[in-house]
Amino acid sequence: MAKLQAIRGMNDILPAQTPLWQAVEQAFHRVVRRFGYQEIRFPVLEQTQLFKRAVGEVTDIVEKEMYSFDDRNGDNLSLRPEGTAGCVRAADQHGLLYNQQQRLWYQGPMFRHERPQKGRYRQFQQFGVEAFGMAGPDIDAELILLSADLWRELDIASALTLQINNIGASAERRAYGEALTAYLEQHREQLDSDALNRLYSNPLRILDSKNPDMQALLAAAPRLADYVSAESVGHFEALQTLLTDGGIAFEVNPRLVRGLDYYNNCVFEWVTDSLGAQGTVCGGGRYDGLVEQLGGKPTVAAGFAMGAERLVLMLETLGKEPPMPKPAAYIVVGNGVSREAQALAMALRAALPSQGILCHCGGGKPASQLKRAFALGARYALVLEADSCNAGELKIRQLDDDGNELRVSLAEAPARLAALLD
Ligand code: ATP
Ligand code: MG
Repeated sequence: MAKLQAIRGMNDILPAQTPLWQAVEQAFHRVVRRFGYQEIRFPVLEQTQLFKRAVGEVTDIVEKEMYSFDDRNGDNLSLRPEGTAGCVRAADQHGLLYNQQQRLWYQGPMFRHERPQKGRYRQFQQFGVEAFGMAGPDIDAELILLSADLWRELDIASALTLQINNIGASAERRAYGEALTAYLEQHREQLDSDALNRLYSNPLRILDSKNPDMQALLAAAPRLADYVSAESVGHFEALQTLLTDGGIAFEVNPRLVRGLDYYNNCVFEWVTDSLGAQGTVCGGGRYDGLVEQLGGKPTVAAGFAMGAERLVLMLETLGKEPPMPKPAAYIVVGNGVSREAQALAMALRAALPSQGILCHCGGGKPASQLKRAFALGARYALVLEADSCNAGELKIRQLDDDGNELRVSLAEAPARLAALLD
């Protein structure tokens, strides 16, 4: 029978890679704690309707990327393709939003049926941050400063650039969309099939096209900036001042629109050229209408999400992997002393609680146990054999250097090992 394989685009993360993942996760946790954000957790499955209403019916995500199915009760459910919708649903359902300010973060798997390639998967992990009840632009700047702090923690700041744009309020965007459609209609013959599909349903997304044959046409298109209100222009300018004050360099990209419908006013993306085509590591912006759109009381909001796989890839590409953690000691267990070995291991773990202490299990010759200790990269082998054990002694052998060996009493072993590791 053929062996079963993982689903395409859904990755296993193996022990050799998890230290790098943990480094990214721990850096994110340090930063959100530093900024006073609180964690929220919500399910990976929601009613399909939630994502249709939040992300938008005419978006890539809802039109062709969701994993949706009818469950046994006939309810139509979807694996979450992103976190903001579920976060808003959960926060509102439990009364966290009304007349309150909240600074929240989440992390977890998201699911999109896309064509798998480097940096683009069908199950991927996002870190996200959402802030409710603050009209900005101070909170918008805070979110960007928070993300920049993470780049510093991960030592990848110099490989990332910030792009920002003002996409205005939804009525302004609608008026602009009509003008854009009218312009593109006059140049129908230059539009590719994607653009033709979106011409009436979501013309702003056409601006995001990477098709080189359409770039000249798009560069000459009406500009969103000419349709947004003085108020949102003022907000955007204030954000730029705050970013400059915070020492954050940015580029205004008038064609940055984001692929989800709920955004308004300021949107941003952090991009890198170290990952090839999948260069967007983090994206976000304001979404002042979403809470109300999902049935809550009007609540202003802003947030961002970043892709953990792309951060991990960046750290690998830039050679920023943390060192593999190595066990401090491996206990080589002679014949008939496994009880003493287990007791020794527990004493060592109690004395050195943050070190890895492995105790050999499963028997075998001391020489092959030593080989195993070497292979694991242990710094010391503690060799416990029947004759020396009866005399209350063991050998500590250095493995990561010149093989020095010393005999110590069982009782002294924890203190001696601690001194050696210092
Ligand atoms: P892209 O333009 O790359 O498709 P997006 O605009 O669809 O990204 P968002 O929905 O804004 O992405 O998600 C935020 C972040 O999540 C992205 O910037 C990216 O880092 C990551 N991300 C999105 N889709 C995937 C995916 N299929 N695989 C891995 N990471 C992803
Ligand atoms: Mg996408």
